[in-house]
Amino acid sequence: MRNKLANVLVGKGIADRRVLEAIKTIPRHLFMDSSFEGHAYQDKAFPIAAEQTISQPYTVAFQTELLLLEPHQKILEIGTGSGYQTAVLLHLKAKVYTIERQLELFKKTSIFFKKMGYRPKKSIFGDGYKGLPKEAPFDGIIVTAGAPEVPKPLMAQLKIGGRLVIPIGVDEQEMTLFVRKSEKEFEKKEFGSFRFVPLLEDKN
Ligand code: SAH
Repeated sequence: MRNKLANVLVGKGIADRRVLEAIKTIPRHLFMDSSFEGHAYQDKAFPIAAEQTISQPYTVAFQTELLLLEPHQKILEIGTGSGYQTAVLLHLKAKVYTIERQLELFKKTSIFFKKMGYRPKKSIFGDGYKGLPKEAPFDGIIVTAGAPEVPKPLMAQLKIGGRLVIPIGVDEQEMTLFVRKSEKEFEKKEFGSFRFVPLLEDKN
């Protein structure tokens, strides 16, 4: 079923071998609620706890591809959710720092990662809007929730040459890539529309 899913993604334009290998390897059904388990290898998003969703595999693959990950790079993920995207990044040998603002999901993935032997460098409960200044700068930052605008701290926490992949918009989001060219310059590219649950900023 995982091979079939990977083939579906190839048909939709995913070409990165390592990303496809991750899709073929990671047991997506274990990241989902048992009531949806039977649908895990469809290319669809599904509900998880706390009214959030596990992203569509195509979206996970697309965002991961845009990062152009090299092994051992330091990657910040905003929106741990089910942990599936985290597992894909770990499969590509990234050093992953992941942040989730829903306590229920944070607790669930913390236990699940241990049980499965997935080892992010840090799994954090908090507001990813602020990034993770203590661990910055990052080679890549991936935001897996729809941001009304680009959080400034995330731009500031990219290495020169680093890549920020972020869906921007309210009802619908434009998949956007920022590449940091210098201290002050960022190159921006857009990759079409997607739909995500909202990135929520904690105001306190
Ligand atoms: N990568 C996840 C996507 C989950 S949906 C997966 O494939 O399962 C997006 C997640 O972003 C949700 O779990 C939501 O709670 C979280 N989120 C929203 N705003 C956030 C913020 N400011 N900081 C951290 N996480 C946030």
